[in-house]
Amino acid sequence: MTTALAGKVAIITGGSKGIGSAITRELASNGVKVVVNYNQSKESAEAIVNEIKANGGEALAVQADVSYCDQAERLVEETKKQFGQLDILVNNAGITRDRSFKKLGEEDWKKVIDVNLNSVYNTTTAALSHLLEAEAGRVVNISSIIGQAGGFGQTNYAAAKAGLIGFTKSLALELARTGVTVNAICPGFIETEMVMAIPENVREQIVAKIPARRFGHAEEIARGVLFLCQDGSYITGQQLNINGGLYM
Ligand code: NAD
Repeated sequence: MTTALAGKVAIITGGSKGIGSAITRELASNGVKVVVNYNQSKESAEAIVNEIKANGGEALAVQADVSYCDQAERLVEETKKQFGQLDILVNNAGITRDRSFKKLGEEDWKKVIDVNLNSVYNTTTAALSHLLEAEAGRVVNISSIIGQAGGFGQTNYAAAKAGLIGFTKSLALELARTGVTVNAICPGFIETEMVMAIPENVREQIVAKIPARRFGHAEEIARGVLFLCQDGSYITGQQLNINGGLYM
């Protein structure tokens, strides 16, 4: 395949479901060798790997809970072992544990910070030396509109996602001269399991507030990742808002 990204190697954390699976497919269909990280979703990870291989692409599923440093390190090591390089790191893994602050226990606070924010330290620190060796290394962090605007019952998630934006800008500054770009994508409400878990009446209220009057599609986030990886050599430290106009 002769696209600009052909032959590059990408890790997509939580890459087997929801937005992550759309990113995996988009990169793979542009010739990228994809490492589909999963924590518990073995079946969906294997299914997407088989689908990509059947379409002539290269893919590998690697189990790792990226909220643990040693597992993130193993994820990067297995990538290097299989594909010999690492060009693109998409930090997509995330969870919610929504509770109003009064009811938010320490465990739900810590878990959300660990999976959404500390994981990004874990994977990025493990990947950094390889990204620096790459011709045009890319880090794309999947943050959220909630990190920009806040969300009721989401102090833990908003803190983690806002933290990602600060992380993105700071690392972008440190790496700008190396050619490695670091950007965040801030999706609005995207039709995945995470959003479909919101009660229907609340979902209807959310859609009514979105200027585009619909939820986004995972593929619309995936195309943003592709753009940053393919055409983003002079774009770094940015937040790309893909939200139907909900936050400007
Ligand atoms: P999802 O629940 O469908 O997918 C999340 C993925 O992360 C899953 O594959 C899950 O297995 C994986 N994951 C969770 N914990 C993990 C861990 N410890 N280690 C490795 N993988 C782990 O959710 P989604 O909607 O596709 O969300 C993807 C990302 O986009 C998340 O970071 C989420 O916060 C963010 N986001 C989603 C929306 C939305 O509307 N869906 C909006 C803004 C931001």
